[in-house]
Amino acid sequence: MSPDTGPDPGDEPGEDPQARDLPLDAHLHTDQSPDSRVPIDVYAAMAEARGITELAITDHVDFDARDPAYDYVAFADRERTVRDAAERWAPRGVLIRFGAELTYNASWEADVRDHLRRHRYDYTIGSVHDWPDSPYVPSRIRTWIAGRPVEEIVAPYFEQVVGAARSGLFDTIGHLDNVKRYLAPEIGAAELAARPELLDAPLAALVESGTALEVNTSGLRHRVGETYPAPWAVARYRELGGTRVVAGSDAHRPEWFAWGLEAGYRVLADAGFEGLTFRRGAEPVSIALPARMRHVGGHGPPT
Ligand SMILES: [Zn+2]
Ligand SMILES: [Zn+2]
Repeated sequence: MSPDTGPDPGDEPGEDPQARDLPLDAHLHTDQSPDSRVPIDVYAAMAEARGITELAITDHVDFDARDPAYDYVAFADRERTVRDAAERWAPRGVLIRFGAELTYNASWEADVRDHLRRHRYDYTIGSVHDWPDSPYVPSRIRTWIAGRPVEEIVAPYFEQVVGAARSGLFDTIGHLDNVKRYLAPEIGAAELAARPELLDAPLAALVESGTALEVNTSGLRHRVGETYPAPWAVARYRELGGTRVVAGSDAHRPEWFAWGLEAGYRVLADAGFEGLTFRRGAEPVSIALPARMRHVGGHGPPT
């Protein structure tokens, strides 16, 4: 996994709409991830100041020794840090959940299963990144793209996403079409939007397994310029019968906290969802979207 240490070349973050009064940011990295230096209290203080009432801390857990978050911070230390912060901040109206973003690959699925059997999180995101042997690592990506049709280029990525959903290990799949980040700028978001069927298998796997779809707003600060997945894919998920959705900013820096989250919630509202509905382990969670975003009957313009 390439660490998310800063902007990619060509990233042009626009103005953050400074999300306020939102019920949840469900994807955040602290200094317990190798690619973030943010102490947990910094996010909690920003959440308090901006009226964001719940956070899921989802530091990276990797399973390939070549990946940066392999054995980075021991489970017990991560858990203690997050649970201690949760105790400090609950009286101030900020709920903090202990989660993780686990990098999935079929080749180490057994290790993920074993990890989750031994360790309990409040909330788990399964994400596919550019695993070390993949064609998506920076040294291989240009040769991989050259002369191949788009369906062949994205196939290994989405195959892993389908595996992650079908594994049933995760509450949510993170940044479903993150492959577009690796493909930019050679293959842009519009080119992928022209081939919506390429996302049908991953979206159907989410629906069938009851795994939630995450709207990850970090794409809004990347050069792809749209959420992961794209708004059209969120609508397609709903058409396919998907009901479980959640949203997160995937912040790795204080200035990225809740970045674009207001827009991410609107993507959900525009697709017809009226709330965030997902699981935290065995616990079903349902959180209404702010009233200002909800569309009458799930469709049409806001009133
Ligand atoms: Zn990720
Ligand atoms: Zn992340």
